[in-house]
Amino acid sequence: MSSNQSLSERDLSVLWHPCTQMKDHETSPIIPIKKGQGVWLEDFDGNRYLDAISSWWVNLFGHANPSINAALKDQLDTLEQVIFAGFTHESAISLAEKLVEITPSGLTRCFYADNGSAAVEVALKMSFHYWRNLGQTQKTKFITLENSYHGETLGALAVGNVALYKETYAPLLMDVITVPGPDCYHREPGESWADYSTRRFALMEQALQQHGDSVCAVIIEPLVQCAGNMRMYDPVYLKLLRDACDKYNVHLIADEIAVGFGRTGTLFACEQAAISPDFICLSKGLTGGYLPLSAVLTTDRMYQAFYDDYQNMTAFLHSHSYTGNALACRAGLATLEIFQQHHIIEKNRALAATMAKAAARFHDHPNVAEVRQTGMILAIELVKNKQTREAYPWQERRGLKVYQYALSKGVLLRPLGNVIYFMPPYIVTEEELLLIADVAWQGIQRAIKD
Ligand code: PMP
Repeated sequence: MSSNQSLSERDLSVLWHPCTQMKDHETSPIIPIKKGQGVWLEDFDGNRYLDAISSWWVNLFGHANPSINAALKDQLDTLEQVIFAGFTHESAISLAEKLVEITPSGLTRCFYADNGSAAVEVALKMSFHYWRNLGQTQKTKFITLENSYHGETLGALAVGNVALYKETYAPLLMDVITVPGPDCYHREPGESWADYSTRRFALMEQALQQHGDSVCAVIIEPLVQCAGNMRMYDPVYLKLLRDACDKYNVHLIADEIAVGFGRTGTLFACEQAAISPDFICLSKGLTGGYLPLSAVLTTDRMYQAFYDDYQNMTAFLHSHSYTGNALACRAGLATLEIFQQHHIIEKNRALAATMAKAAARFHDHPNVAEVRQTGMILAIELVKNKQTREAYPWQERRGLKVYQYALSKGVLLRPLGNVIYFMPPYIVTEEELLLIADVAWQGIQRAIKD
């Protein structure tokens, strides 16, 4: 019979895991998961873990969700996958119709890919190609924000700005224009998020003014820079950015791969600024955390710039074998049905308030510089010195200690450096949120010792 140990040994002899220094597993065991149910994961030795980070921010309605399972079983018996060039299928059509309906107005075309990074690649290429089709071949650059993350394929990595992922591969990456961001952790004492975000926008305006002619698009993560330590900013920044992109004739790409599908309190983060981007990138929660799928939605104006006689060679060229996979699309449809039938966005308002309550005690913790929250994302910034906000040296890996402690108590937290965050599935209960907060507190107590 399989056990944690036997599976770990087999795993470590053939596998190579993402975002992992494999040598760490000499001291920190890898955990083979046997099954998932709701917010709980269970390993082969019978230990249970509360999935407080939604398995890398993908899971929305729990593992083994009965209605998504049922939809998938039905799809499995009908059609699993079909080439998406020259052919189509009902689940892909229905999902695209739904996405057009629920995303910000004006986004009327849906292009599928199969993961978040690929969606970013699609949006970048489409934007560039749009300008080229219009004869504006001088537009070849992209503007991005400091501390942003958009994925790890080479194009997506180039428009990201987190050194940990980017630095090593820098010689391989295209040049981008990086603008200091609106991250409100850096606001002055007493300054509001809105004031700081507005003030910081001046730097973006400057960049657009200076480089607009050669820029295809600005790419941003609306409201929360998730992989960049869950740093947050005010919707006013998005409003100002939308206006400026129009003024300087530059596209706006909203990467809602992590923040979409209710994470920030609205179905899409852009709604909080009442803006429509030219491209929205979606993935992760799109399938409820079941299957890899991504979608880029864009405007009719964009679509029309590619629509021409074949001989004119203006067609968009980007293809993945699994584009619009039928099982993944069906999981997406089942996920959107749950949103609708169970009034999830309204319910999440109460849940977000419960999260805030559960984490209230962290505000006064002597090693917490900030507790910040946007909707269903809550982050705790652990520091060496609360007054000066001096960070712990990254080499000390304090966050890792919180991770290890939490696992030993049955909670899966996966801090980003020294930032501990909660991003649970939307079916989490108040009792479970209190457990997460309690374990995080005890984990921090251990992590700050010596
Ligand atoms: N953009 C954002 C904002 C993300 O958070 C992520 C994934 N963490 C990606 C893009 C990349 O998605 P994927 O991991 O599916 O390639």
